[in-house]
Amino acid sequence: MIDFSLTDEQKMLVEMTRSFVEQEMLPHEETLERTNTLPPKLAAVLKKQAMELGLHACNLPEEVGGGGLDAVSVMLIEKELGRTSLALAECAHRPLNILAACEGEQVTQFLEPTIKGEKRDCIAMTEPGAGSDLRGMKCKAVCDGDEWMISGEKHFISQASVSDYCVLFAATGEEETSKGFKKRISAFLVAFDDPGVEVAPGYRNVSHRGYTNNILRFDNARIPAWRMMGPEGDGFRLVNEWLGPTRLTVAATCVARAERAFDTALNYAATREQFDQKIGKFQGIAFPLADMATEIKMANLLLLETAWKIDQGTVTPETCAMTKLFCTEMLARVADQSLQTVGGMGLMEDLPLERIWRDARVERIWDGTSEIQRHIISRGLLRPLGA
Ligand SMILES: Cc1cc2nc3c(=O)[nH]c(=O)nc-3n(C[C@H](O)[C@H](O)[C@H](O)COP(=O)(O)OP(=O)(O)OC[C@H]3O[C@@H](n4cnc5c(N)ncnc54)[C@H](O)[C@@H]3O)c2cc1C
Repeated sequence: MIDFSLTDEQKMLVEMTRSFVEQEMLPHEETLERTNTLPPKLAAVLKKQAMELGLHACNLPEEVGGGGLDAVSVMLIEKELGRTSLALAECAHRPLNILAACEGEQVTQFLEPTIKGEKRDCIAMTEPGAGSDLRGMKCKAVCDGDEWMISGEKHFISQASVSDYCVLFAATGEEETSKGFKKRISAFLVAFDDPGVEVAPGYRNVSHRGYTNNILRFDNARIPAWRMMGPEGDGFRLVNEWLGPTRLTVAATCVARAERAFDTALNYAATREQFDQKIGKFQGIAFPLADMATEIKMANLLLLETAWKIDQGTVTPETCAMTKLFCTEMLARVADQSLQTVGGMGLMEDLPLERIWRDARVERIWDGTSEIQRHIISRGLLRPLGA
């Protein structure tokens, strides 16, 4: 049986999140875009409201104190939050899914305070010399008695300046594989007030105003042994387990933005007149509208199926990769075509189009580039055939 309908609870979640975004977040977009800053007072108010609505940590399991929502419901919430600027949407913080792997003291010191909104997390994998190829990382952790000593640098770390700690990936040795010796990667919880840890300013970039990225430096930073997540060398497995739902989040945000851009273009095509008629009457404008509507429809179906598969426990890395690839590339096409449909006004800051078009650019790069998604998909196709 195939049933695409939402439950009453899911419909209520969508309605609630939509009106929160419309009433509390959208009015602040213009100022955020202009100043490139999210005032801490506004962030605190939005966070408090999001907690009252049950949006904060809604993605984490109930057993660890989170909202315990199924993947379809989380995806629907992501889609509603995705309509607004990322810096505003992130005030309704959904902590890293990987935190569900916390055990023992990690739960009381990191997971629980994060779920209560007392601490904030971010993730540190990428380095100047290691982006797509994470095993190339130079950041290393050396065991010294009952401590780990960490040295190295990470860059492009989103929101580290407003976070209290990171889930850090560092090399803890080497292992022999069929392709020669490879680094063993482990995950650690590293607090930003640990001695030897520095959070430095990052780069200015074209996408997502008010959403910072930072450089992290570790100068023989010492952390207790219990801060390692999972067994030593388990970092890659944790990343892979975590990346599926994260890629779905990116995809849901992209579909939300594509819908907003498309709505703007559609309304414009239906009202703007040139050559004594509505521009929507020109096939050159109307047919791209049809193509965009079709692509958005396909993306929504893909989102729904992937989220449903996560809930069924049948999702594969290939499915998540296809969803991220299609939705991020689709947003790039729709943002560009929507802007073209509106013409010159599309580039002006009065409409949300130039921002959606700018913000769209990073989605095909972070959380695994489009090329890496194609690599995952094609490997899944060819490997069973021995190629
Ligand atoms: C604004 C921003 C925020 C970010 N936030 C975070 C964060 O919070 N935490 C974090 O850890 N990281 C973060 N990242 C890093 C992000 O995940 C990486 O940028 C991404 O994984 C790509 O790495 P790279 O930029 O070093 O590109 P590279 O890996 O150097 O790739 C360069 C090009 O080569 C291509 N390429 C590489 N390998 C292959 C291959 N095998 N086959 C085909 N093509 C290939 C890539 O697709 C790309 O086109 C962020 C990045 C940005 C831009």
